[in-house]
Amino acid sequence: MKLFVKSEKCIACGRCYLNYPDLFDTNDEGIAFVKESANEKDHISSRNAVFECPTRAIQMIESNEAI
Ligand code: SF4
Repeated sequence: MKLFVKSEKCIACGRCYLNYPDLFDTNDEGIAFVKESANEKDHISSRNAVFECPTRAIQMIESNEAI
């Protein structure tokens, strides 16, 4: 499983990096990205973040799928 943010869809609402700071960080413009240190051990938080993003910018794929 791989978690990623489609930055072109992110509206910088802050929900992901405020609610799940272990998984997400933000650039200077408030656009979210997945932390290097994030790993897949926290599946529940990852799935919640995907569900809670208002623009569906956060996506998860199975590791054997092409991006
Ligand atoms: S929840 Fe979605 S729109 Fe909001 S900052 Fe995170 S990726 Fe961007």
